[in-house]
Order: sequence, then C-alpha cells, then structure tokens
Amino acid sequence: MNLIDIKGVGDKTLSLLNKLNIYDIEDLYEYYPYRYEVLKRSNINTLNQDDRVVIDGYLEENAKIFRYGKKNRMTFRFNTGSNLLNVVIFNRGFLKDKLTIGTNITIIGKYDKLHNTIIASDIRFSSLGDTTKIEPIYHETSGITSKKLNEYIINTFPYIENTSYIPEYLENKYNFLDRKTSIMELHNVTSTSNYKKALSRLKFEEFFEFMYKMNYLKNESKNRIGLERHINKEEVDKLINSLPFQLTTDQLKSIDEIYNDLISKNRMNRLLQGDVGSGKTIVSFIALYINYLSNYQGALMAPTEILANQHYINIKKIFKDYNINIELITGSTKQKDKKRIYEELETGKIDIIVGTVALIQEKIKYKNLGLVITDEQHRFGVLQRKELKNKGITPDILYMSATPIPRTYALTLYGDMDVSSIKSMPKGRIPVETSLYKMKDIKEVLTRMLNELKQNHQIYVISPLIEGEDELNIEELNENLHKAFKNYNIGILHGRMDNLEKDKVMTEFKENKIQILISTTVIEVGVDVENASMIVIFDAHKFGLSQLHQLRGRVGRSSIKSYCILVSDEEKERLNILTTTTDGYKISEEDFKLRGSGDLLGIRQSGDMSFKLVDIKKDYNILLLAKEEVEYSIKNNLITKELQSKLTQVDNLD
Ligand code: ADP
Ligand code: MG
Repeated sequence: MNLIDIKGVGDKTLSLLNKLNIYDIEDLYEYYPYRYEVLKRSNINTLNQDDRVVIDGYLEENAKIFRYGKKNRMTFRFNTGSNLLNVVIFNRGFLKDKLTIGTNITIIGKYDKLHNTIIASDIRFSSLGDTTKIEPIYHETSGITSKKLNEYIINTFPYIENTSYIPEYLENKYNFLDRKTSIMELHNVTSTSNYKKALSRLKFEEFFEFMYKMNYLKNESKNRIGLERHINKEEVDKLINSLPFQLTTDQLKSIDEIYNDLISKNRMNRLLQGDVGSGKTIVSFIALYINYLSNYQGALMAPTEILANQHYINIKKIFKDYNINIELITGSTKQKDKKRIYEELETGKIDIIVGTVALIQEKIKYKNLGLVITDEQHRFGVLQRKELKNKGITPDILYMSATPIPRTYALTLYGDMDVSSIKSMPKGRIPVETSLYKMKDIKEVLTRMLNELKQNHQIYVISPLIEGEDELNIEELNENLHKAFKNYNIGILHGRMDNLEKDKVMTEFKENKIQILISTTVIEVGVDVENASMIVIFDAHKFGLSQLHQLRGRVGRSSIKSYCILVSDEEKERLNILTTTTDGYKISEEDFKLRGSGDLLGIRQSGDMSFKLVDIKKDYNILLLAKEEVEYSIKNNLITKELQSKLTQVDNLD
C-alpha cells in the first residue's frame, strides 16, 4: 500500500503531504496532532465579557456579507435554542453559500456580552449537543487543513499494522493499550482516560525504541574493528609544541582521549564538547594530523561554507611548513576543480579534505579515509554513515558540538558515544560583558558602537529575521546604520545570498575593509574574527538563550575586551540570565528549563533521531524508565523481532 492508495489522497495531496515529510502510510498515521481543541457547549448565561465561547444552534437568517478590498465580514442572527445572538466572522466569505437559514452549526469564538455578539474564529457544520468533542489539531501546510489531515489519517486506520515494538511483558506490566488502538486514539479521541493511556504507551514506546537504538549503536561501534595505526607520538608532541599558543589542560586531555581511540582496536565514535571559544578547532586539526601520520586520509566537515572556508584557511596556516596536501570542497567549488579533487581523493594524493556536507553526499571515492570530523551540530544520520560504509570504509568519527548539554541529558542523548569535554577557556580571555537595552535607549547603543569603532574594532549587528522578510528588515537596519556611521563601511550577510557573495563579505570583514557586519544568524556557528569586539543583537527575545550565547561567542575571541549588547523590549528576566553568566552549561540548563527540549533536538539533528511525541525534558521520567526496561529486555532476550528488524532496515551497516 502506498500513500496514493489512501482514500482522498491524489497527486496534489501527495505532494502537499511530502512537504510535511510524509512519504508513506506509516508517516501519515504517525503524524500526530500537536494539540487538541476541546469543544464543550458553553453556558452563555454564565459567560463574561470576552470569554471564549463554543456553542451550537442554527441560523435565523442567511448570512450577509460585506466586502472591503480583499477582506470580508459576514454577519447573521443565530439561535442557540435558548438565546438569540449576533455572529460576526471575518474573511470566511467562501462559506457564505453554506450559511443559510436553518443550518445547524457550531461556533467557536469570543463572546462580546455587551453587544450580545459572538466574534467567531471558526465555524463547524455540525452540532455538539451535550457531548464534549475533542478535535485533533495538526501542523498544517498551505493547501491542506488540519481537518483534511485528520480525514486522511482516519482513512489509514484499516492499514495500521498492530505490531508492537515493546516486549509483551511491558504491555502487561504497565497495562498499556495496544499500539494500533493507541495510534487511533490520538487521532480520534474517544475519552480522556483512553487518550492518556494511549499517549503513555506511545511515548514509552518511542523512548524504548530510541534507547534501544542508542544501545545498539554503542555496541555496534564498540565491536567494530578499528583501523590499524602506527603513530610516532613524538611527532604529535612536536606539532603541539610548535603552536603559537599553549593548549589548555582540557584540550590536551581531549587530544589524549582521541589519540587513544585512534590507536585502539575499536573504532572511534566520540563527541568533543566545549563552550564557544574553548578551542575545539585546533583539537580537530591535531586529530587530523594523528590520522595523517598513520597514513590515512582525513575529512573535516562544516555545516556552512563560511565555516568550511575558515577552517581551510586556518588548517593551511597550521600546516604551512608541513608537506601535507590539503584541499577545500564546497558547493561553490568550480566543476573543473571538483573533478580534479575527486580524482586526487581517489588516488590518495589529497591527505586532508575540508568542506561542507558535499564531502560525503556526493559520489566521492576515497583511497583510504581514516577519520571524519564533523563540526558544530552537524551530525551524521545512520544513513549517511551507511554511505561511507558503502564506499568500503569505516573511518573513525569525531563530532564537535558547541552547545553544551546538561550532563544528565547528555548521558542519555549521546549514550552511544564517548564524550570529551573542554571546560576551561584559553588563558588571557576576558569574559564578554553583556548588557540589555530597551529600544528607546538606542542612542546609547549607537554611542557605544561608535566608541568601539573609534578604537579600530569591528562590530557584528544581528537582526532576527522572519523567513521571507529578511531583505526588508536588513535593508532598513542597513539604512539607519549608514546614517549613524557615515565614516565606516557596512556589509550585509544573510542566508539567501549566494556563496560567492557571502565569501566576499566575510573576507572583507576579516580584512577590516568592513567595520560593521549586519547579519542574520548565519554567523551563529564558528565564525572567528578576532578584531570584532562588539555584537549588537536586535530583538534578542526572539532567540533562545543558547543561541544568543553562541552569537555572543563571535566576540571575545582574543585579548580585546568585548561587549554583547542585547536590544529588546521584552522578556527582560530571561535575557538578564545572559548578563550575569558566560557559562554555556549553565545557560543551556536555563534554556532547557524554559524552552523544553526543542533546542536539544536541534542538536541531535539527524532525521533518524528526532522524536514524534515525546519531549525529553517533560517526559524525562518516562525516558529513564524506558532506559531501564531496554537494559532489562536486552539482558533477558526480550526485544521484539519487529524492533530488531526495524533497526536493521535503517542501519544495515554490515
Ligand atoms: P570553538 O571551540 O568555539 O570552535 P575555536 O576553535 O574557533 O573555538 O577557538 C577560538 C579561538 O581561540 C581561535 O582563534 C583559536 O585559534 C584560539 N585558541 C584555541 N586554543 C587556544 C589556546 N589554548 N590558547 C589561546 N588561544 C587559543
Ligand atoms: Mg568551532
């Protein structure tokens, strides 16, 4: 059965569903509502002015419509059986032909008691009576309503296979509903208590699967035979001693851990964690050097081209006196160069390749890839690892992440990996001083900016952008700053510029040809310009704390005293956390408390690790329970065949 065979789904709907990442029937029925609308008949007589009202009844007259421009307003008299009311609804002109005298409808809206009027936000062509209706609400995409989605999903019900991914003993132990019933219940709530039971089963099952996968991945990488390496450790020390700075204790410790992984018989699967500016990059370069010394090729993968370029420039600098062949490959590498690079990777002429995800997605053949490093939240999915494996190689893998994760969560979320942490900052860093301003005090902000510029320092200005409105906001900001800072050059950087343009602006900023760089969050990760001493973030409340902390990490990267200026009229209390601490772990903990796991999931990004129902923070107790039961189930050979085969389908690595 395919999606297209589901009643109501045609070609057009199919492509809309694809937009919602729904590609097969299972995706469709596992597309759960994000909330529910509880429709219970209100008692008009007990309502107050502006209360929410849900009421059914019939039209006393045909609806009248008033059109103005592209908008419209409809009104009609409405009879609830006990009350006569006026109803107003905006921009639903398309319903007019159905809103005729005598039609039974349910109205949801706000009660304007003074004027005996309901300002309706929605109308349903059905009656409520005395029952309470619970309507599932789904995330929509234009062209497909929540209601339609629910219809299609209900049409998949006959095809839901009632497989269980949790062992039977758990179904009994926790008195769960079966899987199929639970899924149906979420889309078609029959009672609050059934709903709760259904939800707890599916949440538990989701964590159970996740923790089992984690366990599997951990064992899988532990058991995999690593590459054989013969390394002269003295060479590594020589490099470390020749660096322009002394590595911190944590950097050295991380390098040791990586070194031991690399020479051990097992394959490395390690996460290198460290706050912004803690110096992860140099550790990764040294890892690449160790790998090079054992005669394997290495790859360093960055999430953006800007970052890939920067890494390339820096690594060339570090190895300028070495005879190591390093190349860069990104989306904007010329076709001709790409071809040559492909060839040289295959023949082994290239020792280290730096680039974007192009590194592994394209059909690149390596002669002997021994180490893959991915920088900043960019994680392989199992599928991508499979691609590497398909090329006949199983390299060691090092992930780098700048978003610190509270320890308890890290243990479970990254349970399949070993973790190295860089906790201390390089010597001589002065913590960034952060202050919060209201928009009305913008003059003061401008004065402080001018002060930095006068000392020949540079400034980042960040504006949060709503998709589609970028250019507008940014242009306005650009104009205003131009007026304020006539004698300085201002550059703009945003996600929709092409890569050549981006590079050009970035280079100009690096070379101080531009003093103020207005940017979206494309500079969030990794960008390193030492002379920038101030970052001004507009509408700061629109960002998560960890994200702001990342942005702030763009400055204070040398011994110049640096400043972060948050401008916002809202959420003073939350933003003030940043003015009092620069500890990324603390901040992420706060963020986590305030925003739930949303950001964390962003870190554990790959598709095969995302969750459908659970929230790691809110449901943390369920996660712990699932973890325990997974361990028990594995030990006692209780894992279902269905779960086992589900995993091997995706992760057929061997
Ligand atoms: P991040 O961990 O955020 O990726 P980077 O690796 O970009 O940080 O390092 C930030 C800056 O600190 C870089 O300019 C880097 O050269 C410098 N750096 C790294 N380690 C040290 C150190 N031990 N002493 C002084 N500077 C260092
Ligand atoms: Mg970095």
